[in-house]
Amino acid sequence: MQKKQAQERIAKLKQEIWRLNRAYFIEDKSPVSEDVRDALKQELIALEKEHPDLTTPDSPTQRVGAPLDGRLPKVRHLTPKESLQDCFLLSELEDWVEQMERALGEKKAMEYLCELKIDGLNISLLYRKQKEDTYRFMRALTRGNGIEGEDVTHTVRTIESVPLSFVLTKRKHAPEFLEISGEVYLPKAALNKLNAKLSKEEQFANPRNAAAGSVRQLDPKIAASRELQMFCYGLNREAADALEIATQEELMLFLRDTAGVPVNREMRLIKDVKEAQVRLESFRKKRDALPYDIDGLVLKVNDRKTQRDLGSTAKAPRWARAYKFPAEQKTAQVLDIRLQVGRTGAITPVAILSPTQLAGTTVTRATLHNADEIERLDVRIGDTVILQKAGDIIPEVVEVMENLRPKSAKPFRFPARCPACSTELVRPEGEAVHRCPNRSCAGARQERIEHLVSRYAFNIEGLGKETIEELIAQGLIVDAADIFALSPEDFATLPLFKEKKIENVTEAIENAKHVPLERFLFALGIRHVGRETAEILARRIAWPSAKRMVKRAISHGPQSSLFGEEERSLTLHAIAPSAIAETLVKLSQEELSAIDGIGPVVAESLMTWMEEKSHHALLQKMEDAGVLATLPEGSHAPQTLTGKTFVLTGTLPTLSREEAKALIKDHGGRVSSSVSKQTDYVLCGTDPGSKAQKAEELGVPVIEEEGFLRLLGR
Ligand SMILES: [Zn+2]
Repeated sequence: MQKKQAQERIAKLKQEIWRLNRAYFIEDKSPVSEDVRDALKQELIALEKEHPDLTTPDSPTQRVGAPLDGRLPKVRHLTPKESLQDCFLLSELEDWVEQMERALGEKKAMEYLCELKIDGLNISLLYRKQKEDTYRFMRALTRGNGIEGEDVTHTVRTIESVPLSFVLTKRKHAPEFLEISGEVYLPKAALNKLNAKLSKEEQFANPRNAAAGSVRQLDPKIAASRELQMFCYGLNREAADALEIATQEELMLFLRDTAGVPVNREMRLIKDVKEAQVRLESFRKKRDALPYDIDGLVLKVNDRKTQRDLGSTAKAPRWARAYKFPAEQKTAQVLDIRLQVGRTGAITPVAILSPTQLAGTTVTRATLHNADEIERLDVRIGDTVILQKAGDIIPEVVEVMENLRPKSAKPFRFPARCPACSTELVRPEGEAVHRCPNRSCAGARQERIEHLVSRYAFNIEGLGKETIEELIAQGLIVDAADIFALSPEDFATLPLFKEKKIENVTEAIENAKHVPLERFLFALGIRHVGRETAEILARRIAWPSAKRMVKRAISHGPQSSLFGEEERSLTLHAIAPSAIAETLVKLSQEELSAIDGIGPVVAESLMTWMEEKSHHALLQKMEDAGVLATLPEGSHAPQTLTGKTFVLTGTLPTLSREEAKALIKDHGGRVSSSVSKQTDYVLCGTDPGSKAQKAEELGVPVIEEEGFLRLLGR
């Protein structure tokens, strides 16, 4: 086919495939069979193969890209993400209306747009204006902390109802960016299908977890196989203003009809919050029959000018509320109270319950937190208790139904000894928690190993609780580090491990051996070192220069920068476990506590952990098995230049000026344009200007590129 003809055909095919996808995924209609959609897609693939230069990123063939390497990049949101304040009672909604009237200084008739609150994962899609009023999908971010989210472009673009581009015609002011927010979810039927394929320990408890787990996959192929869907409901204020959108309802119609993003059809304008009460009740009954999970309604003041007048508090808009279903409650019987040993030796009492269906999952246990809580509830074995899920996730015992208590039920006495190793438990003064002080306690060991392989640590799939128990029982592993030395032959001795499963798990272990430093630190399971603290440690400690380099070309694929930056290969710096230990040991408690966000409690906990000889042996064993923690360039670089000001002059032998500046900033330093007494170093190349002279006059050290790289520890 001639190139010109091919170009026309490709354009037509793309349009038609999008039209059919839209009909199928959004309007729930199938004008043609799935075979036809597929045939068109195959034709497009063939044409693009023949004319690679005609393949554009917005082609439906380009939805599934290359897997990411290592971690999801963190990116700032265009506008900070707000959250919604929750209400559970009609009276709370009425209070809200009163607050708004007070703030507006008048009582006026208001309309609210009432939408379903989809229980999924909050995602924002960024579209950027191209030529001819076309907007192209650039990236997708999770909510994260509201300021910064994780870049999940590679998985969100596999959702076929999310347009890769759209056209805005006849607009007076076309904004440069449109930031559309919504909820990515997994339909209930897709969750059942997915869970049927997973082993029991890998199954997702509810659609929200499944959606989050799928979106945060590094490999877009996995996400693409999971039938994710999305409902959109928001647009950044600047864009809505520029487009002269007057009401929330108009905004939804714009999203649906112009941008072509999926929008939930169950929305309605109401004039009184009492109507919301009726609607909530009606959807509470219909809830189970819907193809997706909801946890209530969302009410938004319809008029956008009124929204603007009301503004926002520090976190949430004053003009919107989530109106949530009351937490579901059920009764269950306490069959037993058992003690669980945590990875830090903390003992948690757990109520073992008669299996009870609660908010979408079968509950068989609920935490009782500690001895004080048991006393407060006066919960006894044999009691009937009222259960609910806190935040719809963790089941908790609300109260004991004392009238149903059997005569035989005796008050629970907290055991004096560890259930795993029989060491006498301690309860430090002022703490509610009992602890097992035995550092080689078998109970804590199992927990530590489970923690090491967990999702936010080494993230080794296929090593569930039962497998780890089995590995310990067979004597194949004694501590967490032994995981990395396991061979396919070892797994072959376990029940239910067949060829494919063995291959998968050994590959997962091999891949996990290069792990980002913050995950490594988190994986050690040091008390008080959670994910956030581990990240601060990874960023803020001046880790020594990389002992080894892991050269890998990273394809950023769809993640490549918004501003057209080319894909580039990165050199990853890696640090060996023993070098991590050396660095931590050298730091004093004061130095550690001085790090913003660390403090004395974490510092002491780290020190205590490092004092234990067996921990050094553990790290050495990991190193011998080939484990390396990676230190990426950029914001994760060691902050060795904190507080230092540099001035650049002349041409450097290998670094460009921009590269040198970026290196200084990445390592925590500052770049200034003129030399003064405050300057710490002048970085000087060939043909320097007057700055070098000035530095000499003021006695500011002048260094060359070589010395500069040494400062960076290279
Ligand atoms: Zn113990």
